[in-house]
Amino acid sequence: MIERNRGFANLAAGYLFPEVAKRRREYQASHPEAKIISLGIGNTTEPLTPHISGAMASYAKALGTKEGYSGYGDEQGNSELRKKIADVLYAGMVTQDEMFISDGAKCDIARIQTLFGRGTQIAVQDPAYPVYVDGSVIVGAAGKSGASGYEGVTYLPCTAENGFFPDLSSIKKDSLIYFCSPNNPTGATATREELKKLVDFAIKNGCIIIFDAAYFAFIRNSNLPRTIYEIEGARSCAIEINSFSKLAGFTGVRLGWSVVPSDLKFSDGSSVHADWNRVMTTLFNGASNIAQAGGLAALDEEGVAETKALVDYYLENAGIMQKTLTGDNFASRGVKVYYTGDSPYLWVQFPGMKSWDIFDRILSECNVVTTPGSGFGPAGESYLRFSAFGHREDVEEACRRLSKFVL
Ligand SMILES: *Cc1c(COP(=O)(O)O)cnc(C)c1O
Repeated sequence: MIERNRGFANLAAGYLFPEVAKRRREYQASHPEAKIISLGIGNTTEPLTPHISGAMASYAKALGTKEGYSGYGDEQGNSELRKKIADVLYAGMVTQDEMFISDGAKCDIARIQTLFGRGTQIAVQDPAYPVYVDGSVIVGAAGKSGASGYEGVTYLPCTAENGFFPDLSSIKKDSLIYFCSPNNPTGATATREELKKLVDFAIKNGCIIIFDAAYFAFIRNSNLPRTIYEIEGARSCAIEINSFSKLAGFTGVRLGWSVVPSDLKFSDGSSVHADWNRVMTTLFNGASNIAQAGGLAALDEEGVAETKALVDYYLENAGIMQKTLTGDNFASRGVKVYYTGDSPYLWVQFPGMKSWDIFDRILSECNVVTTPGSGFGPAGESYLRFSAFGHREDVEEACRRLSKFVL
């Protein structure tokens, strides 16, 4: 018989979100009358905007005609879309040729693992989006899990004490550094000075940064960088992974992109871009042409205005939640809300409590689902993540209940 991929055996306990769903299901089963509201999801909830959905509808309709039909496109993506992303979102900091269109950021993160393969040292922020490490374990770049996490992984605690920007000095030479800003789950957005530190460190130590910028559209503070390429030197040490998911509500449509600058090299001097092109042309056959039509519409003038309004809606939700969670009933018990207004996530600390305990209490006493911070890494213990993705009326009702919560 065929031996099981050891990576799967090495994966520790289940993925965070299935456990959240299970607890919610069990609570609902024993309390059928409860109207549970989720502030736990990292999924968009509001409809696609008219200009963008209209563009996809017309494109899909045209596919049913002789003139409008097209089959496979370029594996790297529609060249018009590549150019438009480079122009509109990167203002010439990267070129169309360095841009690869994909079916989403998570899928690119998975394929990145094949690009670097086994034996690569990994460094991740702690807490972090689970895919970086779990994906590395599946391909064998990270090993067994022990008391201090997986073998081959350096965890970089991001805590209130360090302003959620990690001490980089523990990162080993020649590591792949996963860095997410604005961060999921902490919401922390790195400043220009912080990213400069990261880039300088990577260049000095032969590291490559995988910069996940999936929430860049939530950045409202104009002093904060929206792409790693705003930082001098980043072109020689960073890959950026990005997505239309949180920008335009494309979580179900599926469209993302990666940027691999031509300056980026492996230790033997060979081009990372060339190998990434090989990965994308060999293991991927291009993003949906309908989704790409939507992506083009999202980046023209009307689309940009629509997506801004869409993101603003979620940011307003976050503001409403921030007001509730900083209320006296929380503040008097030492609860601290970390939120700067540049992400859809509030990172809330309940000192002295365990994440899953406070999760269970808010579920049973407010019928509100959150996400336990400890599920994103040990440094997330005692925190909950509150997500601003939700309908306004649900957010308001959840906040009414939370404002009466007695800790
Ligand atoms: C939602 C999210 C993504 C987006 O993934 P897609 O596959 O493009 O939907 C990427 N990174 C992080 C950290 C996310 O939270």
